[in-house]
Amino acid sequence: MDFSFTEEQEKLRKEVHDFFVSELPSDYRPGLSGRRASNEKQFEFWMGVQEKAGAKGYLAPGWGKDSGGLGLSDMEQGIVMEETGYWGAVWPATMGLRVCGPPLHVFGTEEQKKKFLPPIAKGEVIWYEAFTEPDAGSDEANVSLRAVADGDTFILNGQKHFMTAPGPADFLYTLVRTAEVVPKHRGLSLFLIDAHAPGISYSPLPTMGNFTVEIFFDNARVHKDRLLGELNRGFYHAMVTFEFERTNTGNPAAQKRSLEELVQFAREEKRNGKRLIDDPQMRELLADRAIEWVLAYLGGWRDGWFFSQRRRLGSPPPSTSAYRGKVDAEPRAKALADTLGLFAQLQRGSKYAKFGGMGERAWQTSRSTHPAGTIEVNKIVLAGRGLGLPRVPAKFNKEIAKSLQERD
Ligand SMILES: Cc1cc2nc3c(=O)[nH]c(=O)nc-3n(C[C@H](O)[C@H](O)[C@H](O)COP(=O)(O)OP(=O)(O)OC[C@H]3O[C@@H](n4cnc5c(N)ncnc54)[C@H](O)[C@@H]3O)c2cc1C
Repeated sequence: MDFSFTEEQEKLRKEVHDFFVSELPSDYRPGLSGRRASNEKQFEFWMGVQEKAGAKGYLAPGWGKDSGGLGLSDMEQGIVMEETGYWGAVWPATMGLRVCGPPLHVFGTEEQKKKFLPPIAKGEVIWYEAFTEPDAGSDEANVSLRAVADGDTFILNGQKHFMTAPGPADFLYTLVRTAEVVPKHRGLSLFLIDAHAPGISYSPLPTMGNFTVEIFFDNARVHKDRLLGELNRGFYHAMVTFEFERTNTGNPAAQKRSLEELVQFAREEKRNGKRLIDDPQMRELLADRAIEWVLAYLGGWRDGWFFSQRRRLGSPPPSTSAYRGKVDAEPRAKALADTLGLFAQLQRGSKYAKFGGMGERAWQTSRSTHPAGTIEVNKIVLAGRGLGLPRVPAKFNKEIAKSLQERD
């Protein structure tokens, strides 16, 4: 692997850097922002910056120019994502950009690509990834939102829950059951659904990690031309979707920025008359976080590099950085809470909160490792696809499913 970037690539990084410097307020502290809009005003602000970034092609730089991108390589896309993460931007359009758009390139018809990709790349629309259901989380094959063919349409009845909702949705990228078959995963299909179609309703479901919603389908109709890929092959298309979802260079960059803010805070903050940065416990915490960051940075670029070489090397191995991010979240949040002491309990917005209330925020989000697969599911993927270990025999899977139901 070549660790250095070319002159052209550094120029691109500088351009994106300058974009954020000119668009964000001078007193904005990305490392203390919590990385997500937490009220309507912030949402409107980020939608505005997002559209400007979209006009420059920075939201989907790796997509072709016809699709609203810049036609750049995977590595250059990684650079733009890295700079975006460093500036604390989690675009409201993230699901469309990272989750729904890439498989649309692979499985979409020409009409679907033409209709859906440019508005995503320009930051004009919000997509939800609508997979999880009350009885189908890790066990995706158990999806039961039912779609029954009726003329040129399918009629949908059922429920989804825990959809990450950065704002009101325009479209839903939805896994539905189109056939009652055994094995169950061969009866699923993916649909691109208008979020406001009659028969679809929403209910808020706030979680510790994020704002999510439940979605109810009551005789909602979707036209057959909104089927993505092949009928009853949706499970396989969904697995490809997860591969895109778990690859990232933006998160390590965000981690770097918040570490820089923490170092600055430790330099300025005094406890018992001494600077925090001179406290051995604080120094250990900062050293641990710096090591974590280097690992996340290298992992993110390793994933990106494999991705860029996939034509030569075949399918990339599963991402280790997503897994590390989940596993490291809790000890990191605990160390921060220990450092801030009782101040760590104060939420963002409290005038007494220290370090922007990030101690409390980090603790909450560290409890929410579910999005894009739980820690256990990530381990299963790494063991199977990463290390080539044999799959868990189907009879044990049944036992696991049974014990989960008993526990509920
Ligand atoms: C903040 C947040 C945002 C989310 N955003 C979205 C979204 O945008 N779109 C979407 O579709 N979903 C979303 N989800 C849902 C998320 O994908 C699911 O919560 C996740 O897949 C786990 O499913 P579950 O909650 O049904 O838990 P379950 O699958 O019931 O798992 C319960 C526990 O059992 C463990 N477990 C399950 N199966 C096994 C096994 N075979 N071996 C070992 N352990 C196992 C799990 O790791 C977990 O600890 C979100 C969830 C959260 C919390």
